Amino acid sequence: MKVLPITFGIHNPFSANNLKSASTSISGNSISQNNIDTFTRNNNDISFNGKIPTFITGKNDLKRLAKNGHIGCIWCGGSMFIQNELDMFHHISKRLASSSELFSRVILHFKDYLPPERIKLVKQISHYSKAYPNHDLKYIFNKMTPPAEKRLIHKQFFILQNLKKLKPELPVELHKDFDILLNHSKYRILGIPYVSEYSAKEFYYQLSNLSKNLPSPRKESILNTAKILTHPIFKEIDPEIPDKWLKRVYKQTNISPNTKGNYVSPYAQNAKEKLKLVLLNKIISLAKEGNHQSIIDLCNLTKNKVIGIPVTSKFSNKAFNYKLNEILEDVKDEKLLKKFSRITKKFPTSLDNKDAFIVKYKNESTDTIISKMLEDSLVTLEHITPILRNTSDKEIKLRNKDLAKNSRIKRGSDNIGNWALAHRWCNALHGSENIKNENFPFSREAGIKYFRTLVEDVNKGLLSGESVINMAKNYFEQTGIKIKLKGMKYTHE
Ligand SMILES: [Zn+2]
Repeated sequence: MKVLPITFGIHNPFSANNLKSASTSISGNSISQNNIDTFTRNNNDISFNGKIPTFITGKNDLKRLAKNGHIGCIWCGGSMFIQNELDMFHHISKRLASSSELFSRVILHFKDYLPPERIKLVKQISHYSKAYPNHDLKYIFNKMTPPAEKRLIHKQFFILQNLKKLKPELPVELHKDFDILLNHSKYRILGIPYVSEYSAKEFYYQLSNLSKNLPSPRKESILNTAKILTHPIFKEIDPEIPDKWLKRVYKQTNISPNTKGNYVSPYAQNAKEKLKLVLLNKIISLAKEGNHQSIIDLCNLTKNKVIGIPVTSKFSNKAFNYKLNEILEDVKDEKLLKKFSRITKKFPTSLDNKDAFIVKYKNESTDTIISKMLEDSLVTLEHITPILRNTSDKEIKLRNKDLAKNSRIKRGSDNIGNWALAHRWCNALHGSENIKNENFPFSREAGIKYFRTLVEDVNKGLLSGESVINMAKNYFEQTGIKIKLKGMKYTHE
């Protein structure tokens, strides 16, 4: 029997003392030893002994079925961490990071929990730690970075090359913007400073991301000020600004034109550029009140772009897609748009490419690196039929208009019959995509195994048969995969 260095299911297995002694004393099947018989519900620690006929009805109780790998992800079948388990890793992350051998050995014990590319990453760490024994995780990470950067750049350039091949199919008037995007992306990837194109929309998008968690009145002042930068007036050829409009802007943003540096002459040739800088300075002063350094940095970077000073920007898939979508806004050729999206989807992410992970987190603390490595494996509550939180009824109607009856979408309900457990990354992959029949991107066997475990749980009295029947119905409707709930002891409730 294999010996585990650590285990879940014993009292605080990750305490420093336990960790030292645990490496030899705990046997291999202890992760699953703590099985469903000792499954405890709620936080008041009522042990389930198989006789209490109260069924799981809450989201958190359902998630606890993932504890100790009891049930796998509905989409990929892998084990999932519950929050407590992740917290334990966090608790010992300093100890783990102190030795890359220990780190890779411990994490590889949980390889059933991790996406394939993460396992490759940990295996590579293990490999490096043999070449550089007795070093900590940070040292190994630094060693891994240069070759990872090289491979990643190669991949990204290859994708840009493939995108370039689509240029002849684009309307001629878009060629210039498209060329600029590709060239600037190369500068970004290589970390070379360049005179970056200013985009008010991009700035607004990045700013809203950064101000997500700001206290309410300040957040509104910042975003309302930034919103003005996206006004169509800035795109008009006429260099002048209508006097009336300018006065309104001053009033709306509480900027005093009489204070030094705030005055903009509406008839000046550079009036628009000047106003952009005044608005950006206003956002900086709002951000300074709350010490929001990342917002200040973004504004300064954007000011350089407005003035035309070369800047270095990191390449990001999101920003690239955002700009490309801006360029393709008026392209109606669906086939061409699909070609673009098929290629851009291949840009490596920190989830599906170990080199992208290394490059993204190379400057982070090992605490952050470890939690980033594991948190995608957290159990999440999945709605089998997506509840389309951000889609209005009207949009659903519009989307269904031209679709055949069997491919129309509908809003799922938020009750246990439509709940399932899935990894965070699988949940995100599902999103609200059509995953029916030939579009099913996951593992059929995983679904079958998932429901087999649920049947056992119904027979143990943990779940109501009716809710599992509804889950299987929703699963069938969504995926086209029929589930036989064989052996389920069930009387009509
Ligand atoms: Zn999964």
